[in-house]
Amino acid sequence: MKKNIDMLKKKRETKFEFTEILEDIQIDGGGIPKVDIDYSIELVEGEVIIRGNYKAFIKTSCVRCLEELEIEVSGEFFGDYKGTEDYNEYIESLGKEAQVSDDMVEELVDGEVDISSLVRDYIILDMPQFPACEPECDGLEELEKYRDSGIDSRWQKLLDLKN
Ligand SMILES: [Zn+2]
Repeated sequence: MKKNIDMLKKKRETKFEFTEILEDIQIDGGGIPKVDIDYSIELVEGEVIIRGNYKAFIKTSCVRCLEELEIEVSGEFFGDYKGTEDYNEYIESLGKEAQVSDDMVEELVDGEVDISSLVRDYIILDMPQFPACEPECDGLEELEKYRDSGIDSRWQKLLDLKN
């Protein structure tokens, strides 16, 4: 979802609040059917400052038993967008100081800010690396046990019944 900043600039206010739902986000290793977002857009001297919170429901699978599951990920997001001239100046100043800044400064392209792409970056950072259906899920250990015994897991079940 894109926000047209030029349209906002025509209004009298400098701060705008939004509560929206994103449905167009794709990531590797999972689908995101829905993201609730709450955020503000602030216009400060040619700069656009975005601050907000998101809550996403992500379809993925348990790293242990491979069961499909839906996890909730939430957090804050922040974006700082500058007009092309200011942005180029900013990049130049970085070069002179020869250091990389952690700030999330982006260029404002065509007077638009891509909210989906901003939120997507944060979701990827906040996502658990090894989602599990439950903390004690021992799916993997079960598989390991069968692998170590050298017995096909289908037969192992029968052996377990016999013993
Ligand atoms: Zn599991």
